[in-house]
Amino acid sequence: MSETEATHNGACRCGQVQLKVRGKPLITMACHCSGCQKMTSSAFSLSALYPLDVVDISGLEPVIGGMHGEMRHHFCPHCLSWMFTRAEMMGPLVNIRSSMLDNVAELAPFIETGTREKLEWAQTSAVHSYAMFAPKEDFPMLMQAYAQSIIG
Ligand SMILES: [Zn+2]
Ligand SMILES: [Zn+2]
Repeated sequence: MSETEATHNGACRCGQVQLKVRGKPLITMACHCSGCQKMTSSAFSLSALYPLDVVDISGLEPVIGGMHGEMRHHFCPHCLSWMFTRAEMMGPLVNIRSSMLDNVAELAPFIETGTREKLEWAQTSAVHSYAMFAPKEDFPMLMQAYAQSIIG
């Protein structure tokens, strides 16, 4: 198995929902928006975007919390950890909260969003910053730059 195909495990706080991802994320993000501040009880959320077909979710069935519309935030039904986000408009992708994964230390955010609502003291190592969302048309460039940044 090559390094790019390495698998990583993850779980919610209580461990009753388990995640397994294969390979590297497409991109890593921090979001400073006020919604993420509330849902994380912290300054920003962290996420790693993966194609749906490399993500395996097992254990208890996650429940929807946060936004219940086109954007859906999935939580462990027992410990209520926010685990991942899915949206129809995103296509077959899963945005996993990086702190669920055992390799979170390797998943430094490459881009940050929602900086217009950022707490002044909250700093990340992100290379690209966006006032609100990153425009869809920027993602091919961002994903390519991220892939190059994690080589070697
Ligand atoms: Zn749990
Ligand atoms: Zn946010």
